[in-house]
Amino acid sequence: MNLFLLGLPGAGKGTQATRIAETYGIPHISTGDMFRAAMKNGTPLGKEAKSYMDAGNLVPDEVTNGIVRERLSETDAQNGFLLDGYPRTLNQANALKEALSSSGRSLDAVLYIKVNKDILMERLTGRFICATCGATYHKLFNPPKVEGTCDVCGGHDFYQREDDKPETVEKRIDVNEAQTEELAAYYEETGIVKEINGEQDPDSVFEDIRNILK
Ligand SMILES: [Zn+2]
Repeated sequence: MNLFLLGLPGAGKGTQATRIAETYGIPHISTGDMFRAAMKNGTPLGKEAKSYMDAGNLVPDEVTNGIVRERLSETDAQNGFLLDGYPRTLNQANALKEALSSSGRSLDAVLYIKVNKDILMERLTGRFICATCGATYHKLFNPPKVEGTCDVCGGHDFYQREDDKPETVEKRIDVNEAQTEELAAYYEETGIVKEINGEQDPDSVFEDIRNILK
């Protein structure tokens, strides 16, 4: 089963990816892990990627595509895989198509986990930290027992990381939204996009995925 997991940040891709990989015995191939492995192993493409990153530049598509192509040719990916975070652009989607078809393969399904932007904002901006002891909380998922008081030290001062602030999160969602929609439209043409309601609890989301993959 050759799968691509699509969805905005905060849609719950990570949780679902782990469960899909375990249940179906296929490797979860995320871009971050792939880059780290290629750099750690010092492959020529890994070295090239590192030189761009060390200079603070974006890694060009040819390099990223090459790293993915290498990863997909490994033994554990021959009976299926779950791609996560790649492709990000149409150019990469075309490169993926070529890489797969050169080994007689293609994507079987694009699992598109959809979550309304307001809910994503709630999920992604909810984290805050105790200024006194550093304990972390989340407005929805892990609030302090007494509102405004740290469970650990009794402190009342909290702050948010820059990454968790609404302005930052909104920008991140907007940038990703355009790319995600573009990719969804691209794969829609081949009829392999399966939309999943990501606003449910994680167990129900996974149940839907299992039904789709039956
Ligand atoms: Zn505290």
